[in-house]
Amino acid sequence: MNVTLTLLDTGYCRQLEAISLGGGRLRSIHFHAVAGFIHHPNEGLLLFDTGYAPHFYAAAARFPYSLYAKATPVFSERSQSLKEQLASKGIGPEMVKGILISHFHADHIAGLRDFPSARLYCFRSAYEDVRGLRGLAAVKKGFLPELMPEDFEERAVFIDDGPKVRLSREYRPFEEAYDPFADKSLLAVDLNGHAKGQFGVFLRDAQGRDILLCADAAWSSRAYREHRPPHPVAHLIKAHSAAYLQNLRRLHELHRSRPELYILPTHCPEVLELSKGEFSWS
Ligand SMILES: [Zn+2]
Repeated sequence: MNVTLTLLDTGYCRQLEAISLGGGRLRSIHFHAVAGFIHHPNEGLLLFDTGYAPHFYAAAARFPYSLYAKATPVFSERSQSLKEQLASKGIGPEMVKGILISHFHADHIAGLRDFPSARLYCFRSAYEDVRGLRGLAAVKKGFLPELMPEDFEERAVFIDDGPKVRLSREYRPFEEAYDPFADKSLLAVDLNGHAKGQFGVFLRDAQGRDILLCADAAWSSRAYREHRPPHPVAHLIKAHSAAYLQNLRRLHELHRSRPELYILPTHCPEVLELSKGEFSWS
């Protein structure tokens, strides 16, 4: 079952390169949040994360949530929200049937409220990690509670409650994944580490391209290609450093054995370029 994938840039925040890439420089870089828009032949229109949206500014307006926006200043125009980008193609919010939420950091969930009829697919372990968090405890986990729809739990589908499938050899060193639509079209692979319960999605698109949407398991393509973990300071904001490093190594090995596979980190500058080229609206 092949799907189509469009990558959409939703804006950026500023961050020091030295933090996101080991050996990087002490210069401020733009850290774009690129979301995925997926057309599935049976399930309809789906999203992989939502990136930024105007809700971010409202959710981060008051202390202590404002600390988040101060640490990483965000630049996102209203027209860059997925809701507006889809509207410009004649796609109304109610047409989006599902959102795959890789993890609950604010730069991945700011648009959730814009899609009131979508099912919300995530790992239970990720949701349990942020559920009910408020104040500084939330900010420390990069979570802004106001971004969550009130009826989240009614619409939630916990991927990791479902059965696992064995992956074939070509996915090594990844050995198993979840199959939320039971058709092998979108295989959710555990990429715990950057945040608890973060997952990525393997898919093959209609043009036969094999893709792994790996969210923040790597912050750039260079990081997994050259196996360059981020600066140790960045580990302070990671849920589980050991798991993060293990999954970065796995991405590196996967890339070495299958260089043709598109491994797409949300914030990578090369992925931003793909969103304007190979993976723009067809
Ligand atoms: Zn993140």
